[in-house]
Order: sequence, then structure tokens, then C-alpha cells
Amino acid sequence: MIKDKTIALIAHDARKADMMEWVEYNSDTLVKNYLICTGTTGTLIEQVLTKKGLNPDITKMNSGPLGGDAQIASLVVEGKIDLCVFLIDDLSANPHESDIMMLLRQCRLHNIPVACNRHSADLMITSELWGTDYIPSKPINQKFER
Ligand code: PGA
Repeated sequence: MIKDKTIALIAHDARKADMMEWVEYNSDTLVKNYLICTGTTGTLIEQVLTKKGLNPDITKMNSGPLGGDAQIASLVVEGKIDLCVFLIDDLSANPHESDIMMLLRQCRLHNIPVACNRHSADLMITSELWGTDYIPSKPINQKFER
């Protein structure tokens, strides 16, 4: 089970209800980890978890359209994010499309697991690899320089 890791959680407005259901379902696991969220998503997640009597460790960045996705992308680059759950509204145009693409690109580039739907997120947070000495491989790309 995932524990003591840093999980980024972001949901666009049309996906927030989906995220809150997912958080509720996985609440016992989530509170064993550090949560980094975009602003509005973080406020809602905090409400869901505290209502259940849990005491989440949540850091709220800016709201997504005001740079929250970019801040989380920066944390990915710095190696501070272990898992990203990013529920994107695929049925609307987003004003911060470039930031969304940047966050996804940095997760891919730095070999960070990123789930864009609940099924993927459920599989990722329940992976037994979290509890072992598994070390993710370094990205293999001939152009990748560290
Ligand atoms: P929000 O941002 O959590 O502040 O709504 C999410 C996003 O739009 O990226």
C-alpha cells in the first residue's frame, strides 16, 4: 500500500465530483500520505476528509488556471511528487491548456505515475510495489541529461 509518499491531486471543475467520490473511497489510504493539490481541489478534498474525522496533510497550491498545475509540474521536476492523479475535463477547452500539457509532459519525462481517470488511479494507489524496495528506473532517453 502507498504510504508516506507525496500524491498530487488535481481535478477540473467538471471532474471534481468524480475526484471527491474517489477521495472518499480511498480516504484511509490518502491520509497516510502527503497531499499536494491545486487550490479549489485541495479545499474540497480537505472538507471531504475532515468530515470523515480524518486529519489530512494537505498543501494547497494556486488554483489551476492561476498557475497551480505549473507549480505542481515544478515539484515533479524537483523529484518531490511520487504519484499524480489528474482528472482532466476532456469535454471543455481550458484556458490553462499549456499548463496542463506541461504537467503531463513532466510526469512522463520524469517517470512519475500519472492517472487521468479513476480506474487508473485505483490501480496505481493499490500497487503492491509501493510497499517494497522497488526503485523506479531512471528514464531512458538518449537526449535525457541529468
Ligand atoms: P482547481 O484547479 O483545483 O483550483 O480548480 C484545477 C485546475 O483547473 O487545474
